[in-house]
Amino acid sequence: MTTEQRTSDSDISAILAEKFVSFQGEGPLTGQRCAFVRFSRCNLTCGWCDTKYTWDWSQYKSVDVSARVPVADIVDWIHALSVDLVVITGGEPMLQLPAMTALTTGLDTSVRVQVETNGTKAPTFKLAERVDLWVVSPKLANSGVPYSRRIAPAALAALRSTSRAMFKFVVTDLVDFDEIGRLANEFDLAPVWVMPEGDTREKVLAGMNLIHGPAAERGWNVSTRLHTLVGAQ
Ligand code: SF4
Repeated sequence: MTTEQRTSDSDISAILAEKFVSFQGEGPLTGQRCAFVRFSRCNLTCGWCDTKYTWDWSQYKSVDVSARVPVADIVDWIHALSVDLVVITGGEPMLQLPAMTALTTGLDTSVRVQVETNGTKAPTFKLAERVDLWVVSPKLANSGVPYSRRIAPAALAALRSTSRAMFKFVVTDLVDFDEIGRLANEFDLAPVWVMPEGDTREKVLAGMNLIHGPAAERGWNVSTRLHTLVGAQ
């Protein structure tokens, strides 16, 4: 990285909800120790969202639950942790593309980068090149968000074309499977992962029992919510 890049990137800040060290609780890297950087703000309003403190200003005050943090400070924090994985999540982190780009390109290349996104915003080429895994979670009708807001064909195509994306759907009932199948066919989304919705151990376990057989029949993968099962952050 050049001196000029460092100087300009040091001016960039991100609006964060929180950052912490834990293990990845969902998706293909479940169990992996990592740094989480949770961006504040979202462009959707899912009814079952478990991070409403990133966007629901009818319940939260943004000044209480988010803060502007220099990207250079986030990079230093991650490097000091000696983790080999950072998970950038939200909210919807892709709403802050300059900060996302500065953060990911400021990290040592030994740190793998996973981004969790709702799939409504396309990455820039520079960002796409640096991200190792895109966990794209297009929202279904069960979110209560209108189709035109939650499904963005051009963004899904751009994420799919990185060849580093997987598509994870939150399931509240087996009737969701037909909608997932239609979306996967129409937008050529693969591999497909399905994960039960739930913020309690009982709900997650019941959901896993419900979906694992039908998911296997369709050739899909299943994800648990390990952090919910063990009561972690
Ligand atoms: S896209 Fe994610 S963060 Fe945004 S409202 Fe839906 S579940 Fe919450």
